[in-house]
Amino acid sequence: MRLLSVGCDAKTVKGEKKGYLTGILYLAPASSSGVANVCASASAGCIAGCLNTAGRASIFPAIHKARVRKTRALFADRDTFMRDLERDINALVRAAKRKGMTPCVRVNGTSDLPWLALEMAHRFPRVQFYDYTKHARPWDRVRSNYHLTFSHSEINESLCVDALRHGINVAMVFSTRKGQPLPKRWNGYRVIDGDLSDLRFTDPRGVIVGLRAKGRAKRDYLGFCVKADLVQIQIGKAA
Ligand code: SF4
Repeated sequence: MRLLSVGCDAKTVKGEKKGYLTGILYLAPASSSGVANVCASASAGCIAGCLNTAGRASIFPAIHKARVRKTRALFADRDTFMRDLERDINALVRAAKRKGMTPCVRVNGTSDLPWLALEMAHRFPRVQFYDYTKHARPWDRVRSNYHLTFSHSEINESLCVDALRHGINVAMVFSTRKGQPLPKRWNGYRVIDGDLSDLRFTDPRGVIVGLRAKGRAKRDYLGFCVKADLVQIQIGKAA
């Protein structure tokens, strides 16, 4: 089974313009496969607004079905799944070499399984891996070739501050609409535009990676998206 998606979304295409060929593994998020919960630290808000509901995945049901198939394959026969993933990463590395590009891999495109990413980062020490995660203490799982960005939700603000204090950037979805500017700061931390590419390992350290709400997150009512206008008012008061 082919597991890695390459050049299938707008943000990784932006990365290609910067010389990176990105492979992403998309599983069925949270418990949506019916066989396992692949996002043990997810919140109600992030499940409702998950990236799984944005882009092509929101239009074509076949995409979600394929993600369910992959998730079932992982939990039915882990060794075969790992071999298939290894084969796809090797293919990505060869393709990148042919094109004169740098390969990079996001194992948890729509999941949060540290063991899977760490195992692949270990098997491919010369490939750059990266993920977003909602599990606490991300700094313990960072490796020289595995970059992590902590991911904000409506229930983990203190963990976000913890992550920032340990030098881990925090991704935050704002209610900001497409084409509109993100807030400049959050709680004193600079906000950078995370929609310009998905190459999180090239970000400066100590920043908030601001993202605009996409898919169902645009209709968030659970507090997952940070209200951009409220952040601007707080900045105004502090100024
Ligand atoms: S943890 Fe991430 S991948 Fe999992 S449901 Fe939440 S937003 Fe989606």
